[in-house]
Amino acid sequence: MLTDNHGRKINYLRLAVTDRCNLRCFYCMPEEGLNWLSRAQLMTYEEMLQTCALLVGMGIEKIRITGGEPFVRKDIMKLLTAISKLDGLKELTLTTNGVLTAPHVSELKQIGVKSVNLSLDTLDAGRFFSITKRDEFANVMATMDELLKHDIEVKINAVVMDGKNTQDIVPLVELTKELPVSVRFIEEMPFNGDGHVYSGIKWDYVRILDEIKTAYPGIAKLEDPQYSTSYNYQVPGYLGSVGIIAAYSRTFCGTCNRIRITPEGELKTCLYDNGVLNIKDQLRAGVSDSDLKTMLLTTFNTRAKDGWEAEQLRTENVRIHESMATIGG
Ligand code: SAM
Ligand code: SF4
Repeated sequence: MLTDNHGRKINYLRLAVTDRCNLRCFYCMPEEGLNWLSRAQLMTYEEMLQTCALLVGMGIEKIRITGGEPFVRKDIMKLLTAISKLDGLKELTLTTNGVLTAPHVSELKQIGVKSVNLSLDTLDAGRFFSITKRDEFANVMATMDELLKHDIEVKINAVVMDGKNTQDIVPLVELTKELPVSVRFIEEMPFNGDGHVYSGIKWDYVRILDEIKTAYPGIAKLEDPQYSTSYNYQVPGYLGSVGIIAAYSRTFCGTCNRIRITPEGELKTCLYDNGVLNIKDQLRAGVSDSDLKTMLLTTFNTRAKDGWEAEQLRTENVRIHESMATIGG
């Protein structure tokens, strides 16, 4: 079992395969996009697979493919298929915006993907356009239909933004009446690639929950699964459930079981650190698996206690300029 210096189990890797995206979500990146990484800066699929195999051998049990948008990277299904075959991996999953995903759903099912996180901040096509700057609402809904048709669990990620989509909180909860989906409201974080000035959190988990409880006074608390980052609820009689993720308030650091690898191969042992080891550089310098393993163990043994400490330890200046697209969410 892989643990860190604070006794927390590490068994979950989030691998961001590209920084590129076909949407421009307000909370994630500026409308003109980011300063995209060149092909040479990206980890290759071979490097990703080698790293995943090593980490699975060390104790990683779950891998989530994310980005950027995973489906804008060429041949992503090849990588997913190869990762799905790793001995010892218990769960392969992905986070997608759903724009290009629908045609791949049956193949996802075939390779054993049981759950997909779909980002959807509104059920109104006009607001979808104003948040994402792209007219793709219908494609995202088609992906949701396709996932449900294939009996793949759907978790909807909705970032709550003051003045943008708070009127969608209740309709999104209402979606769980007829559909067996889990809608998770996420606090907006400062990782927007400087698309806008982050002016602090106006809708934290307490306020989001208040809004939901006002509309659904009878909503019941569910038991939160181990390592869950969300507080989970269900409206009695509804098929789906509702979660709130206190991503900005950082209430879940004490049980954090996850590490991240960015598209450039930077290992992050906390969302709020600015990288603790560049795996791609090590691989390209010809490091052996056993030396890389030692380096990885060193980073796990010097892991920040929580997101606040990681933020303080950042070597670059204090303000965060990153986009979630270069971190993977
Ligand atoms: N493109 C894919 C998608 O949107 O699902 C995967 C990558 S995206 C960066 C992963 C998750 O990060 C999404 O669910 C998105 O809503 C979330 N995210 C992005 N920027 C965020 C921010 N500033 N605050 C909170 N969540 C954010
Ligand atoms: Fe793209 Fe996902 Fe960022 Fe939206 S949240 S811009 S879909 S990477």
